[in-house]
Amino acid sequence: MDSATPPLGPMNGLSVDVEDWFQVGAFETVIDRGSWDGLADRVDRNCNEILELFDRAGVSATFFTLGWVAQRHGALLRRIADAGHEVASHGWDHARVFRMDRKDFAEDLAKSRKALEDACGQRITGYRAPSFSIDHRTSWAYIELAEQGYAYSSSVAPISHDHYGWSEAPRFAFKPLAGSDLVEIPVTTAELAGKRLAAGGGGFFRVLPYGFSRWAIRQVNRRDGRPAVFYFHPWEIDPDQPRVQNAPLKSKLRHYTNLRVMADKLKMLILDFEWGRMDELAAREAPRALEYRAVELTA
Ligand SMILES: [Zn+2]
Repeated sequence: MDSATPPLGPMNGLSVDVEDWFQVGAFETVIDRGSWDGLADRVDRNCNEILELFDRAGVSATFFTLGWVAQRHGALLRRIADAGHEVASHGWDHARVFRMDRKDFAEDLAKSRKALEDACGQRITGYRAPSFSIDHRTSWAYIELAEQGYAYSSSVAPISHDHYGWSEAPRFAFKPLAGSDLVEIPVTTAELAGKRLAAGGGGFFRVLPYGFSRWAIRQVNRRDGRPAVFYFHPWEIDPDQPRVQNAPLKSKLRHYTNLRVMADKLKMLILDFEWGRMDELAAREAPRALEYRAVELTA
């Protein structure tokens, strides 16, 4: 790609939520956290494949990584940082924010940041809540993020969904706190017949035809004039991962559908749009972020 060519649309945010196949929310009722260390480790090889894909395409991205992973994969974290990508936080062990109280959340945030910074040598300024679990119940999380020096969060899915969602939240960048520059960059949604649809990645990208995602991101870029935020997981490009037999059928369908086509879909997506790191996107969006006071900053 010719780096002198001006971008056709706004730069979109490309992100990888770095967790292994046994750490996903869909399996949390059947795989105990205490058993994780004994399970087949696939995150290293899958991330290497992603790094090669990004390198060939000449794109930079953000890797929202679990502290648990960083503690065990220091060399991987350094490779990610050395390749010019941003390392950011995905919490410690994928506990959802709405299952924690404010004190637990503060500890989770601090512990994971230390593991990430020790591993990669970069300062961590971005955060994505596991399973987009910041919503109207947990807006106090923004106070902690601001107090711990985070510049941005990308932790809100502004839709209704069975596992997550904050349907009243703005679709694009907002500042949730008075007296703070902290910016929230919600994951991308599209609008169809007055309804918001999830269009920022995950199972939707894998299961639906690629044309849906292309249409949705074009709508956001061209009609709304805003950047899209896309995410996927290392296990989504890994058809050979171990199968969790005793998981609920719905979880299995979501997790295992179309793993073999994911890498090719990603290649198309990366070539069809302009992509960059989330910290750069957050800095560009900050001046036009909506003032949306989820909570008054009391500190
Ligand atoms: Zn996750």
